[in-house]
Amino acid sequence: MAVQRTISIIKPDAVAKNVIGAIYNRFETSGLKIVAAKMLHLSREQAEGFYAEHKERPFFKALVDFMTSGPIMVQVLEGENAVLKNREIMGATNPSEALAGTLRADYAVSIDENAVHGSDSEESAAREIAYFFTETEVCARTR
Ligand code: UDP
Repeated sequence: MAVQRTISIIKPDAVAKNVIGAIYNRFETSGLKIVAAKMLHLSREQAEGFYAEHKERPFFKALVDFMTSGPIMVQVLEGENAVLKNREIMGATNPSEALAGTLRADYAVSIDENAVHGSDSEESAAREIAYFFTETEVCARTR
């Protein structure tokens, strides 16, 4: 399996819980490397653009309200099979369905406030990385 890059977002609920380090630990112990990271407080326009594919869904306004309610931590993760690996570390969208030991089982309170985001395909990952980072902001981890 090839080395991939994917976007991870620690959402406002999890930043407020002060578990950025605990979540980074899960990535690192799973063999994923953080190759870019920034804390941002999204504008409505940025949140609407990021979630544009959901704009006709009934939860869209609530999702934008939530994603702009406080700072988020955005990172690019790199590693073997990174897209699927991050989705496995995250667990199901609805925390009540998330497997024990996943981030959403441990830190999410509801399907609306579910702690983390992860790209769902290599195509989404490429779009989402470019949404938040310039090419020079993503670092090579060669050492
Ligand atoms: N979401 C929501 N209500 C729903 C479904 C989704 O608030 O009924 C939010 C939730 O924050 C989710 C995001 O919309 O993480 C994107 O939904 P998607 O189905 O893409 O789930 P994900 O890829 O985040 O697991």
